[in-house]
Amino acid sequence: MSSSEWESLCDGCGKCCVLKLEDIDTEEIYYTDVGCKLLDCETCRCLNYADRKKLVPDCVVLTADGLDALHWMPKSCAYRLVNEGLDLPDWHPLVTGIANSTQLSGNSVSGQIVTETSVAEADMPDHIREW
Ligand code: SF4
Ligand code: SF4
Repeated sequence: MSSSEWESLCDGCGKCCVLKLEDIDTEEIYYTDVGCKLLDCETCRCLNYADRKKLVPDCVVLTADGLDALHWMPKSCAYRLVNEGLDLPDWHPLVTGIANSTQLSGNSVSGQIVTETSVAEADMPDHIREW
């Protein structure tokens, strides 16, 4: 798969770019409605994709050779679906042919999150949300 084909698999949902909390006892991961500081809360796009690892060291870069992080990706993530041999959902841009069909169909975090700079760390548990 070429790198552009690989990138096109991403549905742009933004779910992987929300902050997550981990229960240190159970190692369970909880998603929140708090977006990474580089995530545009409306378009769900990274504001500095080229330098994301430099600016957000925790940012996980998925590659075809490095799918270790897949286990904590959302169930709807196209990379996870493909890895599990499942079909892409009918709202995926590669299926609809519409670039922002993930947002239009309500399957992204668009408009439903706040940015991390607006939330105190102590308040993070109040932001746990299932996507
Ligand atoms: S969860 Fe998967 S499909 Fe959605 S934005 Fe992240 S990498 Fe792309
Ligand atoms: S740096 Fe960009 S790609 Fe990485 S988590 Fe933040 S918004 Fe997402």
